[in-house]
Amino acid sequence: MKIAFCASEMVPFAKTGGLADVVGALPQALEELKHEVIVILPRYKSIQDTKFKLERVKQDVSYTVIGKNIKVYFIERDEYFARDNLYGDKAGDYKDNLDRFSYYCKRSLGLLKEINFKPQIIHCHDWQSGLVPVYLKNLFVKDSFYKGVRTLFTIHNIGYQGLFPRDEFSKLGLSWDLFNMEYMEFFDKINILKGGIVFCDLINTVSNAYSKEIQTKEFGFGMEGILSRRKDSLFGIINGLDYSIWNPESDSYIAKNYSVKNLNEKARDKADLQKICKLPVKNEIPLFGIVSRLAEQKGFDILAGAIQDICKLKLQLVILGTGDQKYHVLLDDITKQYPEVVSLNLKFDDSLAHKIYAGSDIFLMPSKYEPCGLGQLISLSYGTIPLVFKTGGLADTVTKANGFVFDKYSAEELLKTIKSAVKEFSAEKKWQQLMQRAMQYNFSWEESAKKYVQLYEKAARQK
Ligand code: ADP
Repeated sequence: MKIAFCASEMVPFAKTGGLADVVGALPQALEELKHEVIVILPRYKSIQDTKFKLERVKQDVSYTVIGKNIKVYFIERDEYFARDNLYGDKAGDYKDNLDRFSYYCKRSLGLLKEINFKPQIIHCHDWQSGLVPVYLKNLFVKDSFYKGVRTLFTIHNIGYQGLFPRDEFSKLGLSWDLFNMEYMEFFDKINILKGGIVFCDLINTVSNAYSKEIQTKEFGFGMEGILSRRKDSLFGIINGLDYSIWNPESDSYIAKNYSVKNLNEKARDKADLQKICKLPVKNEIPLFGIVSRLAEQKGFDILAGAIQDICKLKLQLVILGTGDQKYHVLLDDITKQYPEVVSLNLKFDDSLAHKIYAGSDIFLMPSKYEPCGLGQLISLSYGTIPLVFKTGGLADTVTKANGFVFDKYSAEELLKTIKSAVKEFSAEKKWQQLMQRAMQYNFSWEESAKKYVQLYEKAARQK
């Protein structure tokens, strides 16, 4: 099939979270299955000519090739995209995000015709590319080039919807008929995600559990009604993991490579991490790692509630992340109180992330909700045991057999589960077996890519 991806981030070009990992890996898995894929991204400041060997195709578009022959196109418009961050800065979201991403969506559709690539499917991801299905079925509907092009819309996190004031609606170039509750209005605001949901041919999310959860009031963030109405078009496909990047046997960021056959070498990565993080180098103390956005969604509210008690246990905690200022402050205070227990790293750092996945004993991921989650999949591959709240993709991938799971979202339950992990860590032989079991789980992209192909085929058959 011919497939075009539209997304706002992709490894190795630009990343803030799991979306980038997915868009970096899935096209290559599809290419392995003999499909023809292109990707269209905004050209952010981080995407440098020399680093990525870009070539120019249009005055405002350049491209590079990844995999065997996947062309990745970059839409340029410096006033919108040549900034330090993707979506916002310390002051919050960029004020012109509607201008930025509506421009990106419209230009992406135009580009397909200009390069004469007529896809059977445009695969869109999250609200930033949510206007692609809207424009396709409205602004581009009269152009025969786009006849028969179908869309799949993947929701990676329904908590982010692209909400804007109603008086910006005229910027979109769409009929005001679409600004009502059936289409793109949400409590008097423009809701871009909703537009994507209404106008795409099929929808999916990134785990089976999450595809059900978002149809409920508790997890739907107001989209539950519209999703329930489209439930026959809504599917769940778990993300795979790119094992060429996340593999302790070949990871070039870590101090010592290891595999399930020489697991004792993992201790060298632990010592290295302790040293880098200025924690006492002691193998017998269980080391907990966190690599995460610092947001309530990721469980930082219950972690905040339990942190004083956690720090009094015999353990160490390495945290890597950025996010809500209130958690920066809170964790900073805790680190000052317990410098021998907590190492806080308030930054985005790919290299340190790899070292944490390899060097920790336990990976802490108590997300309140989690569409799929990659941290737990990565940590399993490194024999680092995930400790999670039973929700969404975490519930689909972590069980008692490969991790620690609690099913009541509270600071008390989190603390209790951490205590039991500390206790189990001291039973060395059992712990070794647990690590070995964890490392045997395989969430390769191959299986998930095959499921995406089935969805693409289904979408292509839609009237
Ligand atoms: P999200 O909801 O943020 O997308 P996921 O678990 O799906 O969460 O994916 C997060 C991805 O981003 C993982 O690859 C994780 O290792 C990475 N990541 C998150 N925060 C950081 C950070 N501060 N530094 C480096 N990598 C990070």
